[in-house]
Amino acid sequence: MGKTHMNAQGIGMTSERTRLRMIERLRSKGVHDERVLAAMQNIPRHLFIDEALSHRAYEDTALPIQFGQTISQPLVVAQMTTAIINPTVPKRVLELGTGSGYQAAVLSQLVESVFSIERIDKLTRSSRRRFIRQGYSNIRCKTGDGFEGWPSEAPFDAIICTAAPEEVPLDLLQQLTPEGKMVLPVGDDKQQKLIAIKKTANGYAHEELGDVIFVPLLEGVIR
Ligand code: SAH
Repeated sequence: MGKTHMNAQGIGMTSERTRLRMIERLRSKGVHDERVLAAMQNIPRHLFIDEALSHRAYEDTALPIQFGQTISQPLVVAQMTTAIINPTVPKRVLELGTGSGYQAAVLSQLVESVFSIERIDKLTRSSRRRFIRQGYSNIRCKTGDGFEGWPSEAPFDAIICTAAPEEVPLDLLQQLTPEGKMVLPVGDDKQQKLIAIKKTANGYAHEELGDVIFVPLLEGVIR
């Protein structure tokens, strides 16, 4: 099987075989959408984190990135991605909270275009460099306050929020297409629920997808 990368921890900690083990673990934890599993098999998660942590890239755990933020746990990335592409695959997706860029990269394999907003300018810049270097040409990202969405590119078929507001940011629902959906964690630093909201002709349908822990969605931009 494929290439093996060397790092301080020895040979193979970031190899394709290690990544395949992560996929098998996701499967055993209930992820069954083959498109999501294939996308995650494709994306080298170790290239989205600090080299010193790359030997842990394929553990099913959130890991620290810069500025006190985190790259989400693979299982949660898989669950949110599954919720975003079912029952229909959206064309244009807005992400709030680019962070490392990993979730955006996974989505880029499955949808036509990803628009991603990050409030910490240095994170936007390093993610943008990753997208270019790794060739994800259907991702656009910018520094901004996710609470405002991306009005000039709206409407979106789906919005994925990878940081937790205390309440559903209702204004953002206006940037969805008539059949659009939003997937997001909601709550405080003690308790959060992952929620999927679907826009319908008669209002909004909510679905709870379980307990999660994300960093908070905060207002304002850091340059
Ligand atoms: N999707 C990311 C997860 C990063 S953690 C990944 O795959 O790595 C969440 C990110 O949301 C952090 O980088 C944080 O700075 C950012 N964030 C928090 N509030 C925000 C806001 N209002 N607008 C945009 N980004 C925000």
